Amino acid sequence: MTDDPDADADALVRRVRDGDLRLHELEDHADADAAATARRRIVESDTGVDLDAVGAYGFPADRADANIENMIGAAQVPMGVAGPVTIHGGAVDGERYLPMATTEGALLASVNRGCSVVDAAGGATARVTKSGMTRAPVFRVGDVAEAEALVEWVRENEDRLREAAEATTSHGELTDVTPYVVGDSVFLRFRYDTKDAMGMNMATIATRAAAEAVEESTTASLVALSGNLCTDKKPAAINAVEGRGRSVTADVVIPRDVVEERLHTTPEAIAEVNTRKNHVGSAKAGSLGFNAHVANVVAAMFLATGQDAAQVVEGSNAITTAEAREEGLYVSVSLASLEVGTVGGGTKLPTQGEGLDLLGVAGGGDPPGANADALAECIAVGALAGELSLLAALGSRHLSSAHESLGR
Ligand code: NAP
Repeated sequence: MTDDPDADADALVRRVRDGDLRLHELEDHADADAAATARRRIVESDTGVDLDAVGAYGFPADRADANIENMIGAAQVPMGVAGPVTIHGGAVDGERYLPMATTEGALLASVNRGCSVVDAAGGATARVTKSGMTRAPVFRVGDVAEAEALVEWVRENEDRLREAAEATTSHGELTDVTPYVVGDSVFLRFRYDTKDAMGMNMATIATRAAAEAVEESTTASLVALSGNLCTDKKPAAINAVEGRGRSVTADVVIPRDVVEERLHTTPEAIAEVNTRKNHVGSAKAGSLGFNAHVANVVAAMFLATGQDAAQVVEGSNAITTAEAREEGLYVSVSLASLEVGTVGGGTKLPTQGEGLDLLGVAGGGDPPGANADALAECIAVGALAGELSLLAALGSRHLSSAHESLGR
């Protein structure tokens, strides 16, 4: 290594061309920026594609060490804010700008309009009502009798499993283990309080230790540490029903005059759109998401705050309700399985860390878990604003004109 990153990158390129190094080994022989530059140059020359924009990232590459392999640069997604919006949460209280990263024109304008209407109503209420990250290994047993014996053993030895699991973490707590039997396969669904971590790594490491304890004392044999009954990053009713990560709800009552003046529609029209679209239409489609576009807000806030983007799948398990009341419009959104963290994963990346700072939730909370709860409540209120705005747009029939003027 020299003091000249450009020369270091050139030297790496030569060593790869000479067959001395492989593309994934560059970080072992130079700093992370020189390695990314060398890899990008090789890809550029192999493909003839200009990667100048990908290479123009604005943070030291070693800050992404834990987040990516084979780095060549960064995909930059525009970030904006909606709000500020007032949140009366269990873990967050006050006005917040909501950071959102997206390429969908009209999304922030829509959520922003929802936020201003929520604010005109005095703000939204939000609460985390359930919390727990799950991992469900699958074991092979000889037959159904052995399966029943394993279920019994788990019931009698939950303390032993807790001790094994919690020995791997200073923050995580095993809250319960639920067995499921399918013939000679037994799934044990471990649920953890992972505090401010989204917890997928934490839960996996802890479950490995617990699974070893199961194998030591029973006839069961571990087949896979994840048996897909967890369920991570796949659409699954178990998450929509039982919850995974945070189950969080936000609601608001919008005075009738605000609905009419700001949203150009009525509580009755919005409630009808919600029933026929979000409930009847979703039921007919066999959907797990009984909402208009919660995934839009979840995805944009996940990208802006360093969450695991693939878990937008679970984040879309949400039900929106709307009811015309005498005083105005009641709207709520309940996200059953919002998997969020303010430590670990992508949360320490520079732009994502700033996104968390904007919400005042970066790092570990006091008490532990409070920051991740607060983040969940902020996302729920963003989702509520998005639902309100889109339902109102549909209620007043101006959806296509907004997309035409803002998105094209
Ligand atoms: P992590 O990056 O492993 O970091 C979490 C760790 O931070 C905890 O285990 C804990 O250490 C520590 N920590 C410090 N302060 C804490 C606090 N206040 N609350 C909770 N923990 C605190 O993160 P993770 O959330 O467990 O996993 C997220 C990562 O998993 C993401 O990068 C995601 O992409 C990836 N992921 C993994 C899998 C998998 O199967 N392994 C699946 C999907 C996603 P101690 O445990 O020592 O206390």
